[in-house]
Amino acid sequence: MKKISRIVMGLLVSVGMANAQTPPRLRTPFVENWGQIPPAVLDRQAKEFAGTYFLEGPGDRKEIAFTYDDGPSLDTPALLDLLKKENVKVTFFWQGSQIEQFPETVRRALAEGHTLANHSYNHPDLSKLEDGGVWWQDQLEKTQQAYQKVVGFQPTMMRPPYGFLNDSQIKSLQGKGMKAILWSVDSADWFHTHQNKMDELASNAIENVIRQYIHPEAIVLMHDSGGRGRKPTILATSRLIPELKKQGYQFTTVDKLLNIPAKLASAPAAK
Ligand SMILES: [Zn+2]
Repeated sequence: MKKISRIVMGLLVSVGMANAQTPPRLRTPFVENWGQIPPAVLDRQAKEFAGTYFLEGPGDRKEIAFTYDDGPSLDTPALLDLLKKENVKVTFFWQGSQIEQFPETVRRALAEGHTLANHSYNHPDLSKLEDGGVWWQDQLEKTQQAYQKVVGFQPTMMRPPYGFLNDSQIKSLQGKGMKAILWSVDSADWFHTHQNKMDELASNAIENVIRQYIHPEAIVLMHDSGGRGRKPTILATSRLIPELKKQGYQFTTVDKLLNIPAKLASAPAAK
């Protein structure tokens, strides 16, 4: 018995120490064969480009940031209604092509206190678009201009589709004063919504991932556009918010979690 309790104590001590010293990392299991960035690359780039490339917050405050990618879409207003009711602010990584389609939804999200960020113009793997700066001009800059037109500013934060950025692109973002925001908890809502045709089952699967892997200062990846629609994600959000609040978590936006500005101070002039 004594030996066992010593082992347990040892484990507790090492877990405690690990918490204080562990580098940022992806906590959720990797979904194979779906074209997403491998966890080892995420972890390496987070370590190598600390200060520009983030998976989670820097400390252990009981604050978490829910994030939604790919929108806005016809599903987004229902999500905004829910977030308003719960008084929860989130971060949206939106595509320029969608921003142009739903400018009213963009203005509403901003008016209701959410943070807006750049998720490319139409969702290519940016790391494959190196030549001639196309990745920047045709994808990120085009979306910065879409935001400029709709809300009058350009965001500081971007998230690469599927997580892919090559090292020179990350360095280039550094030079532009922009931050790459990845995630520590991938809800895999895109996968579970595809696997489960019933919204209830898909929602349960999404909830279970987040429940199991949520941690202090987590950045949680979800989607408000694409697939067969995002009702399961919205349902999961509606159930998780009260539950996580009860556990003592506070919801915040990524810029506040990381203590960085949400808007670029001096936007480059439009060409
Ligand atoms: Zn995306």
